[in-house]
This record gives sequence, C-alpha cells and structure tokens, in this order.
Amino acid sequence: MATVAEPTASLLGPITPRPFRVVRRGRETADTWTLELEPVDGLPLDVRPGQFTMLYAFGIGEVPISVSGQAGGLLVHTVRAVGAVSRAICASRPGSVLGVRGPFGNAWPVETAEGSDVVVVAGGIGLAPLRPAVYHVLAQRDGFGEVAVLYGSRTPGDLLYTRELERWRGRFDLQVDVTVDRAMDGWRGKVGVVPKLIAGAHFDPDATVAMVCGPEIMMRFAGEALLERGIPADRIYVSMERNMKCGLGWCGHCQLGPTLICRDGPVYRWDEIEPLMEVREL
Ligand SMILES: Cc1cc2nc3c(=O)[nH]c(=O)nc-3n(C[C@H](O)[C@H](O)[C@H](O)COP(=O)(O)OP(=O)(O)OC[C@H]3O[C@@H](n4cnc5c(N)ncnc54)[C@H](O)[C@@H]3O)c2cc1C
Repeated sequence: MATVAEPTASLLGPITPRPFRVVRRGRETADTWTLELEPVDGLPLDVRPGQFTMLYAFGIGEVPISVSGQAGGLLVHTVRAVGAVSRAICASRPGSVLGVRGPFGNAWPVETAEGSDVVVVAGGIGLAPLRPAVYHVLAQRDGFGEVAVLYGSRTPGDLLYTRELERWRGRFDLQVDVTVDRAMDGWRGKVGVVPKLIAGAHFDPDATVAMVCGPEIMMRFAGEALLERGIPADRIYVSMERNMKCGLGWCGHCQLGPTLICRDGPVYRWDEIEPLMEVREL
C-alpha cells in the first residue's frame, strides 16, 4: 500500500483534490448533513482533532470544512448548507464523488491537556470540529481529570449529534450540559446562551484546558466566562473561521492581522487571538 501511496500523493501535490466517494449521508438538522467519505484510492487521511480539509464539489467550488470524525478509515464531515458550494456538498448522494485536499491547519491541544481537566464549549456547528477532540479524550479517559462538554444551539432543532449527546449524557465520567437560545418543540431543557453553562461546570481552573468553537460573538463571551472562572488565558483555545481559498498559506485570503488562519490556525490560544477578534474579514 505505502509504495503506491507516496508517489500518488506527491504526484498530486497539495493543490490537487483527491477523489473521495460518499458512502453515507445523514441529516442532522434542517440545513446540516453529515457525510462519510471513503478515499477512492483506498488511502485514508491522517487527521488530527481540529484540522480541516478543502472539500470540492466538482464544477461548483471548494470550501474549508472541519473533520468531524474518522469512523473506520472514513473521513467524516458535518456541513451546513449556507451557499452554493456547501449546498452542493450537502446534496451529494451516496456513490457520488467529492474532491478532498488536506488535512490542513493545526490541532486542538489534546496532548497538552493530558493530566488536566478539559472543558469543551461549542455553539451550533462548532461542535463538529470539537467532536474529534471529545473522541480523543473519551478514548483515553483515564489520562484526563474532569471532562465537561457544554453545548448550545439556537433552537432544539439545530442541535447536532443528538443521539450521541444522549449517549454521552449517560456516562458517569462526563459532564454534558446543553442549552438552546429559544425553546420550542416541547423542549424541557435549559434555555439561554451557552457561555452561561460555564458557571455550573465542575473543573479545577488551575489545571484545566478549555477548547471553544462557535460563532465569534459566542467565543468572545465564552472566553470571558472561562477567564472569570479562573482559567488562565494561555489555557483557553478557540478555533477561528475566515474565508479561505488555498488552505496552504499561499493566497492570503484568510489573513487576520499578522496570522494566516489556514497555516497558523485554525486553533489559537486566547491570549494570542483575542486582540485580533475585532478585525473583520478581508
Ligand atoms: C477552518 C474552517 C472550518 C470550517 N468548518 C466547517 C464545518 O465543519 N462545517 C460547515 O458547515 N462549515 C464550516 N466552515 C464554514 C464553511 O467553509 C462555509 O460555510 C463555506 O465556505 C460557505 O461557502 P458557500 O459557497 O457554501 O457559501 P457562500 O456563498 O460563500 O456563503 C454563504 C453565506 O455563508 C457565509 N460564510 C461563508 N463562509 C463563511 C465562514 N467561513 N464562516 C461563517 N460564515 C461564512 C457568507 O458570509 C454568506 O452569508 C469552516 C470554515 C473554516 C474557515
């Protein structure tokens, strides 16, 4: 296998998409689907939690999408249909082929977090890039202290991975707290924004790593709430999104101050990125 892999990968280079076949497509919410993709050449990607790929709907366009899991060599992406490309990706039926470049970007600090408590704070589709970090922690549960997953969405219908959240909730070694901005559909859970859940989570602020992903306004409030609980700024991490084209640090589309998100991010330490969060997209 490896003798075929190396020439193939090096011949294609980082700018040429590799064909991946859709093997499963499941609906998460009204506008969000999870796709499981298998590499047509049989060579799975080596992805670290928090990395993304450039996902190409042939003839339509290419967009950055975080890896939301890796089930048995399959590449898993959870995509919200917001525009032409993401709509085409979400509409891809099993058997159809998408292009994949990457993986790109850095990773959640799951190694740094070993031995510490872990707080995961996710808003909306932000749970997708954090899910592999949760999988990593759960796979090596004894290597971590308290673990909390705090998740919020706009409405109950916007919650991702609801069956999995229920399974996680059933564990005695994991705190799972969920809230929605607006209750409907007979919702009996919490109502309010996700940063509000931080006050109720159990962790030792002096020995905690926090990982946060969601809309930027939500990450700002979550960062402030985590600081208020006493977690040092250099142990809070957020994942940033900006418009991206190459994924390789070549084109400059995702520049944010002195940093290129595709090359240096998307995961940043709070003390490094917070001053730049006001900078609008180029
Ligand atoms: C590192 C990274 C990881 C991402 N991971 C995921 C993921 O796992 N799942 C997912 O569904 N999306 C993810 N996104 C966002 C995704 O790339 C955009 O939704 C996509 O590029 C939109 O392209 P489009 O052509 O479908 O829509 P467009 O026509 O380009 O845009 C439609 C609407 O979406 C807005 N939009 C476009 N790009 C973004 C963005 N990056 N962030 C917020 N709003 C945007 C536009 O302003 C516009 O209002 C990620 C983005 C980055 C940078």
